[in-house]
Parts: sequence; C-alpha cells; structure tokens
Amino acid sequence: ALKVGIVGLPNVGKSTLFNAVSTSAKAQASNYRFCTIEPNEALVDVPDERLVKLEELVNPNKVIPTQIEVVDIAGLVKGASQGEGLGNKFLGNIREVDAIIHVIRCFEDENVLRDEGAINPVSDKEIIDYELQLKDLESIEKKVKRIGKMARVGGDAKMKFELDVVEKCEAWLKQGKNVRELELSKEELPAIADMFLLTVKPTLYVANVDEASMHTGNKFSETLQKVADAEGAQMIVLCNNIEADISEMEDPDDKAMFFEDYGMKEAGLDKLLRSAYTLLNLKTYFTAGVQEVRAWTIQEGWTAPQAAGVIHTDFERGFIKAEVMSYADFTKYGSEQACREVGRLRIEGKEYIVKDGDLMHFRFNV
Ligand code: GDP
Repeated sequence: ALKVGIVGLPNVGKSTLFNAVSTSAKAQASNYRFCTIEPNEALVDVPDERLVKLEELVNPNKVIPTQIEVVDIAGLVKGASQGEGLGNKFLGNIREVDAIIHVIRCFEDENVLRDEGAINPVSDKEIIDYELQLKDLESIEKKVKRIGKMARVGGDAKMKFELDVVEKCEAWLKQGKNVRELELSKEELPAIADMFLLTVKPTLYVANVDEASMHTGNKFSETLQKVADAEGAQMIVLCNNIEADISEMEDPDDKAMFFEDYGMKEAGLDKLLRSAYTLLNLKTYFTAGVQEVRAWTIQEGWTAPQAAGVIHTDFERGFIKAEVMSYADFTKYGSEQACREVGRLRIEGKEYIVKDGDLMHFRFNV
C-alpha cells in the first residue's frame, strides 16, 4: 500500500489525528482482515461510494475497499535538520513516505502548550518547510560534489543535463521554496530521483481548527489557505478533536445522530483519505464477482497487465487479455450479462491503459 506520513510541529494535533485514523482502522479490521503493524502506523480503507453501488448490484459475500498506510511522524522540531532532538531520525522517516499530510495548528487553547508564542499557522508551516528544505539542500550539495566536476569537465550531455536540473533545485530551495512547486518535467524528474528529496513529495495541508470553526474555518485557516493557494497546494479544514470522537463511536446510530447534531455529511477523516488518494494521483479499478467486490489501487497510466499484477504477480506474467466494463456502463445496465448483450463489455489487450472505475476480469496463463 502507498504510504502517507503525518508531520507538523509538536502539539498541533498530529497524534489526535493519527489516533482517529488508527481507531477507525481497527474497527474496520475486525470486519474482515486483521493487520498488525507498528504502533505509529495504520492501514486504513479508502472510502469509495462506488463500492456501495456495486454491492447493491452484485450482492457479493464481501466487499473489500482499497487501503492506504498512514504513519505518524512525531518529533519534528525547529533545528531538526541540524540534529536537534531526534530530528534527523524523523526526517529520515519522511523519506520513506509517498505523500505528506502536514498538520498545522489553527486553534487557540491556552491549555495546549506552544513554544512559538501567538498562534501563527503560516510561520509554523514555514518552520517545518525550512527544516525539510535544509535537509534537501544537504542531499543536493552531496550530489553536486559527486557529479559536478565530472559533468563540467568532459561529462556527457546526460550528466550535464542532470547537473543543470540539480542546480536549478538548489537555487530554488535557497529561495525558501519547495521542489514540488518547481513542477519539474518528466524528463527532469529522473535527475533527482536518486536523492529522494523531501520537498518534492506531494503535500496536503490540514488546518486543525476548533470545533466552532469546523464548517467555516477561521482567521487562521484563511491565512493558511492563501499560502496554500499561492503554492498550488491542497488544504483541508478539520477539527481533529471531533474526528477522534467520531472514530470512537461504534454504534452507527450514534454516529448518525452525532453527524446530524454537528451538521456533518461524513467524517472529515473520509474526506482526508480521499484527498490523500487524489493527491497521489491514484486510480481505482474494481473486480466484481459473487465472492467479493473489491477495489484495487493503481497509478495513473498503468496498463492492464500492470494492473493485474496488483492482484498477483502471476496475473501480470501470464496476462492474456482482460474483459472490461466501465463503472458507468455497469451501473447503467446493471450486470455483466446486460453489458455483454449491448456490446459494452470490451476485450482489451496488453497495451490497454486502465481507467479509473473500470471493472476488470483478467484472463491469464499460469
Ligand atoms: P501532536 O504533538 O501534534 O501530536 O499533538 P496532539 O495530537 O498530541 O495534541 C496536542 C494537544 O492539543 C492535545 O491536548 C489535544 O487534545 C489538543 N488538540 C488537538 N486538536 C485540537 C483542537 O482541534 N482543538 C483544541 N482545543 N485542542 C486540540
């Protein structure tokens, strides 16, 4: 599963959010599968309302959503890149994630300790950004040292190009900006791939507000939103305390009542997970049989054999062809048989690029 890391300064509500995620993950696990991982890691279902519709139509024995792994990366503080606290270790943990959820405090509460004085979401964000940028600069300087001289004297065109890209990132970081905002091209990205830079990772900002501002946001989340917009980044407003409360509720009726009281349509957590999924540019395809209806995660642009490989590597190796229906057709005509009759069940080969929502049935050699 793809991994998303929660980062932020101390006391901004990271653990509260992570606990909400992991409590709901535990509730899900008891339904059909159990998975033990580290205490700061949780495998959670990605909510997808299409599964509800497919369940109605297929009436399977079970329904299995696709999952995402969430990791709580505590301990980032000012000076982390210089080895403050356990800073360096935590920065290393960020290297392993595919995307970042950056939690920022947008609530006032004199009982919750804060080292940096008055609440200031923009400067909080910049403190964390700065640490990540310094760490990236460190990686970049190492690489420049390694290839710089070679590229300048007698290196081939490829190496010169690589150095150009790396130096472009360096200059950018020195302006206090994140590499992801540089929007490197497909040709440029391989030049930095070996460094696993931190600021290139897709990032979602979570403005953690108080209960009263959960629907409206507040002056803090508004200033943060402006910064996120300027970066072209996504931000969502959440009240982590409320999410923690919701995750504790086992009875669906209690939950429904709570949602009504608070004027909520769904848990903010669901929105968060969906946003993380979108952020990673992930797509979903389905397999639908009477045994199970299941969602599978693939990346944008994957071919049918690659998609089959998510289920089992044998499926990829022995791939022959796939029978494909779109979600829209399947729900319109109501069954595989009906799709077949109207010619909406296609046979696709090795080159087929799987689309979000495709219902796939693979044929393969073992
Ligand atoms: P972390 O250090 O970032 O993991 O922060 P925690 O999740 O441990 O939260 C620190 C404190 O802030 C705890 O006492 C939480 O109950 C409190 N807290 C978290 N979210 C909110 C919120 O939305 N409003 C208020 N008033 N307190 C919150």
